[in-house]
Amino acid sequence: MGRRTVTATRRRVVQGLGALATLPRAVRAAPLTTDVVVAGAGLAGLNAALILEEQGYKVTVLEAGPGPGGRVQTRDIGGRLQELGASDIGTGYGRVLDQIQRRGLETVPWNIRVRPFTYHVNGRLVAGKDWAGSQANRLEGDERALLPAMLEMHYLGRNPLKEPDDWLQPEFRSLDIPADDWFGAQGASTEARRLIGASFQLSESRGTSALSVLRDGAILKASGANWQGKPPPMQQVEGGNQRLPQAMAAALKTPLRTGTAVQGVRAAGTGIDVASSDGQTYRARRVILAVPLTALRRIRFEPALPSDQARAFREMGYSRTSKFYLRATQPFWETDGLDASLWTDTELERIFALEGADGSVTNLLVWLNRTAPPFDRLTGADARAYVLKRLAELRPATAGKVEVIAEHSWLTTAGIEGCLARYGPGQVTAFADVLPRPHGAVHFAGEHTRRVDVGMEAAMASGERAALEVIAAG
Ligand SMILES: Cc1cc2nc3c(=O)[nH]c(=O)nc-3n(C[C@H](O)[C@H](O)[C@H](O)COP(=O)(O)OP(=O)(O)OC[C@H]3O[C@@H](n4cnc5c(N)ncnc54)[C@H](O)[C@@H]3O)c2cc1C
Repeated sequence: MGRRTVTATRRRVVQGLGALATLPRAVRAAPLTTDVVVAGAGLAGLNAALILEEQGYKVTVLEAGPGPGGRVQTRDIGGRLQELGASDIGTGYGRVLDQIQRRGLETVPWNIRVRPFTYHVNGRLVAGKDWAGSQANRLEGDERALLPAMLEMHYLGRNPLKEPDDWLQPEFRSLDIPADDWFGAQGASTEARRLIGASFQLSESRGTSALSVLRDGAILKASGANWQGKPPPMQQVEGGNQRLPQAMAAALKTPLRTGTAVQGVRAAGTGIDVASSDGQTYRARRVILAVPLTALRRIRFEPALPSDQARAFREMGYSRTSKFYLRATQPFWETDGLDASLWTDTELERIFALEGADGSVTNLLVWLNRTAPPFDRLTGADARAYVLKRLAELRPATAGKVEVIAEHSWLTTAGIEGCLARYGPGQVTAFADVLPRPHGAVHFAGEHTRRVDVGMEAAMASGERAALEVIAAG
């Protein structure tokens, strides 16, 4: 074998666990030893690491990206701090609020106000006040009086789940059916079901389990949300939510290793060898993988995962919303005399007109269904041009009066590749208990393993659970 071939072979094998098996002992870097390796410096991984450090464990946190935060990222867009991912901190977020306080940060009331909506439904542009009598309104009976944005809430008022953990109880497993079927069983008309599908953040009411939708309804209700009226007050971290994971990472005793992706975990004696993209092997007693399922799919396990767990990691879906940030160069809503925000039954879904403290519209935020053709094939300048063209078709007054100033797609964000894990019909039954189950000395955390919380709080709770598993294992 020639020298170049040997080098190429070596380069290939150091990509994963092959390195551990194939390379002669002399050329392997000595393993770095630690008590626990945590993969992923999102809120789940960071919370697990801080709890374990407090209990005296030596913890090494490996993060594939350039910094901590994962799906909590703040950017200055158009002179205003915007959250690319998690924005709202609920009143029931005990763990998040505790960490904010412990890291010396402050919360401020949710500072974004959304202007009222105009509707674009069934090809017509309709003012909210004209909806009930509009030709665009193909709803039936009492539904006709409900704005499209309220339909989902209206039917979720019949949620049979009362407690946040009801979704895990065997007696509710019969609700592990397409969400669309459940809304139909509540008497929602065909048109109401179509509009709920469009108002569903996920745009996939057939591909989503009703049980997981009802779970979120029960959790939000327990946190004080009132489906028919005002949502509970929301907060943000002063200076942007991203300051929280940054402060948590700064509090780690062993500095966070960024740009270091875990590629493989292999049981070795009483511990685990972790292969990472920096070519280094870490030897630990326990490992916590706090990375999204999209990233877990690329990690090699020795011994292999049990088939039900491998299937769960492989088959769970993710929601795929993209965000575009627009600036109104002229107040187009004064041209057509309609409310500034726009709710549509098209792939452009929602355009939120965001109000600054002085009451003026500072930005427009488009939530767009990334899976809808032709947008699924467009990137960069083509995608931006498409958004503006499509918006002008839906609402002619915007033509020449808005520009795209930023965009963010979680689907194309390396290491994450989706918004939120989504249970399909039947998958709560098949996967809910399997996702968080430890595999030997490897533990799992992250929002996809959530139980009775949502969002950032769920990520923190999952990290806490995994840390407690490690502590209990001794
Ligand atoms: C658009 C959007 C809006 C949201 N809005 C809200 C909201 O308003 N309120 C709320 O509470 N929640 C909200 N959420 C949810 C919240 O952001 C998440 O639940 C939470 O941040 C997830 O944390 P996590 O630690 O589980 O995962 P992540 O934050 O995704 O962290 C995982 C980390 O693992 C890293 N990683 C990946 N692969 C590897 C590897 N092989 N090795 C090492 N590291 C790796 C990733 O780079 C990432 O940093 C929102 C999410 C999105 C996307």
